[in-house]
Amino acid sequence: MSGAWSALLWQGSGHEVTDYIGYMYATEGRPTGQKMTVSDGHTWWFDSGSLSIDFAYTGSMDGSGCETMHAASDLTDWLIGRFPEVIDGATDRDLIDARALRGSLARAATARSRGDEILSDDVDVINLFAATPDIAPSLIGGTRQAGRSRAKASQALSVLAREAVELFAANPTDRIRECAAADCTLVFYDESRSNNRRWCSMQRCGNRAKVRAHRERNSSVPPR
Ligand SMILES: [Zn+2]
Repeated sequence: MSGAWSALLWQGSGHEVTDYIGYMYATEGRPTGQKMTVSDGHTWWFDSGSLSIDFAYTGSMDGSGCETMHAASDLTDWLIGRFPEVIDGATDRDLIDARALRGSLARAATARSRGDEILSDDVDVINLFAATPDIAPSLIGGTRQAGRSRAKASQALSVLAREAVELFAANPTDRIRECAAADCTLVFYDESRSNNRRWCSMQRCGNRAKVRAHRERNSSVPPR
């Protein structure tokens, strides 16, 4: 691979968050992003920029992803990766609830990315979960459980729903967008200050666009 081509490759930083320190509340300081496998079997790191949209992509979304929540233990693993306070494993009931919330989050995010209204049924589901108890804020440094509160899976689902309320109620809503690649429908929340994120992932669609632009530039050079 020549230098010019290797320079086109972007090395993503797999967000590795090992612990939380200090004061934390709701979604503050929790890691986003996950390994994503699409129907063609390709796996890469996709950071949607939001916990609730990440969660939507644990299912097939609009056909872009694959089901990853086959059993309650899959839900437990996913939640503990973001909510270390979740000590008790998720139950089968939690899994049913999680899939219901996830479906509504997925449809809502897709609708928002297209500038559409969110279906009232999905609004109801998100509001319902947001109205249940979430994870209490806690200070690090107490004498009990190293300062970390214990939570159930259902409380973590409430945090996801509350984040979604905040996200989908935000004005303007143009921070929830589809990837700019013509053949990619992945939706993300642009958390950048400049609000200029274009790609689902630089490793995937961003690089493909750069490679294409590079080829077009080269092919437009007249032969000597
Ligand atoms: Zn894309």
